[in-house]
Amino acid sequence: MAVFLPFMGMTAQDEIPVRPSPVQTMDPVVVPPYLSVGTAVDLDNPAAYLYPDWNNEYVHTFEGAILPDTVVVSTKGYSMPTDSTYITDKYGYRPRRGRMHMGLDVKVRIGDTIRAAFDGKVRISRYERRGYGHYLVLRHPNGLETVYGHLSKRLVDENDIVHAGDPIGLGGNSGRSTGSHLHFETRILGNAINPENMFDFPNHRIATDFYVFTKNTREVYYKVRSGDTLSGIAMKNSTSVSNICRLNGISKNTVIRVGQTLRVN
Ligand SMILES: [Zn+2]
Repeated sequence: MAVFLPFMGMTAQDEIPVRPSPVQTMDPVVVPPYLSVGTAVDLDNPAAYLYPDWNNEYVHTFEGAILPDTVVVSTKGYSMPTDSTYITDKYGYRPRRGRMHMGLDVKVRIGDTIRAAFDGKVRISRYERRGYGHYLVLRHPNGLETVYGHLSKRLVDENDIVHAGDPIGLGGNSGRSTGSHLHFETRILGNAINPENMFDFPNHRIATDFYVFTKNTREVYYKVRSGDTLSGIAMKNSTSVSNICRLNGISKNTVIRVGQTLRVN
């Protein structure tokens, strides 16, 4: 944990110690290089220090990407994606349904303005009938990607550069959605993070100046396949049956179903 000490008690105004060459050298701690004085923010290829390429195809897979042990995410310059302060569904795993809710649902009305959470570039602007509906994926210089789902209208195109607070879409109820709301996700290299770790919707403000993502504490999920047993799944994922039971609120005798999702870390 000693590695975190330089960041403790710092505010957004403080200068962040930056190591010279991130990611390619497998540096365990990645701090966005633009936080070092005199380094320009690259909005044309945001967070190139973390992502192997820029594409408009894949939402959550990053081939050839190396996930660093730790990524320090600065939330400086944020904008709340909506004026709404009402959370209708939390982020998290639902053991009973064997399903994961990868984002946070915030109540919005159809036509409400949805805004870019940070400066960045639109990576995906697409319609998906059964899932996100009209949705956007933005990549930001701080290493995050943000996802905005169930929009009634998309106001930006792929590869557009946006600034924090810019209107990017209108609230809606498209895709697999009951009742108009914004489905909002925050991810690093496809790894979902609870948006509430960064965005305090009820109080309409940011929750932290820096969010520290660590590989070892990230949540890992496994989809049960035919022939799987709890002990087999535990072995495949370098964990124990008792840990899986604890994470999912089940016992070692619980019957698992094919297609069910289990949290394994
Ligand atoms: Zn949702």
